[in-house]
Amino acid sequence: MARDFYEILGVSRSADAEELKRAYRRLARKYHPDVNKEPGAEEKFKEINRAYEVLSDPQARANYDLFGEAGVSGVGAAGFSDFGIGDMGGFADIFETFFGGGFGGFTSSGRRSQGPTRGEDLRYDLKLEFREAVFGGEKEIRINHLETCKTCQGTGAKPGTRPVTCSTCGGIGQVRRSARTPFGSFTQLTTCPTCGGSGEVIESRCESCGGQGHIQVSKKLKITIPAGVDNGTRLRVSGEGDAGLRGGPPGDLYVYLFVEPDPEFQREGNNILSRIKISYLQAILGCRIPVSTVDGEAELKIPAGTQPGTVLILEGRGVPRVGNPVARGDHLITVDVEIPTHITHEERELLEKLAKIRGERMGKGGLEGFLGSLFGG
Ligand code: ZN
Repeated sequence: MARDFYEILGVSRSADAEELKRAYRRLARKYHPDVNKEPGAEEKFKEINRAYEVLSDPQARANYDLFGEAGVSGVGAAGFSDFGIGDMGGFADIFETFFGGGFGGFTSSGRRSQGPTRGEDLRYDLKLEFREAVFGGEKEIRINHLETCKTCQGTGAKPGTRPVTCSTCGGIGQVRRSARTPFGSFTQLTTCPTCGGSGEVIESRCESCGGQGHIQVSKKLKITIPAGVDNGTRLRVSGEGDAGLRGGPPGDLYVYLFVEPDPEFQREGNNILSRIKISYLQAILGCRIPVSTVDGEAELKIPAGTQPGTVLILEGRGVPRVGNPVARGDHLITVDVEIPTHITHEERELLEKLAKIRGERMGKGGLEGFLGSLFGG
């Protein structure tokens, strides 16, 4: 049965920070396992630490007052639960570590950094062909990420052994350093040099991972590219980042998409743009001609009298909307009209006849005059 934190420290519920600190200091010295060899002293010491940790943090104390221990279960609970007291340094060490200098108590900044840590997110740049972006599909990629070592289950310790609590910091992962300066004495929290902040030290390293707890693994992944993605789209592949530490969840893999330009098509949002060339006769008379679309060949109707630069629309032949591939943009086709620079003698005669019918005045100069002299008109 958990005892009341105020009771553990022997103070009233209205005790102020100074009273708490005094009570804690007195009890911690009394029950410190290096001093007190009585059975149960270690348990008592842990209990005192836990009580003080919560009550010395105003926010945690407020939660505790309202909800009891359930209100503070997240507050550094792991920090003392597996305190390897036996592995600690001497009395002086631990007091240097915990209480040195300013004796600030255990606030959030003094919390042990040993909890589960989520793995890093990773980035992978993937090139897609124009059509792959339009229609989506599966792509196989090869990534390198950290995976939890199977031999040691991520502990980094040789199977059959366990990491032990770091004796330098007592498992906190941080040490207090006092520095004297002309302006006074300062206390600083720094990462423990022995364990690098993990709070644990591995005595016999796992041979598979060299004590890291994770291994760099090259892995093939099938990525499903949804239809309609574009240059700059980012896909998240959940859980394929680096493995987490100490049982933490893995990070995610972010696949950044880069779409290669296409010789025929351009893209504007969900619309596809392209150009076609038709002859002046096709423009004047109208026609049906085959055009290339992302779906393959389609027939485009050129109305009679189409002007150069006209944009014709093939509805629904554009890019599918991401998440709703049934809805597609359009294919917009800009019409270029070619005026021939060379015509045959026969063509020229026909065109001149046509000009006469339309009552158009043909100049002798310019291109007409030039063509006339060429074709003996
Ligand atoms: Zn291992």
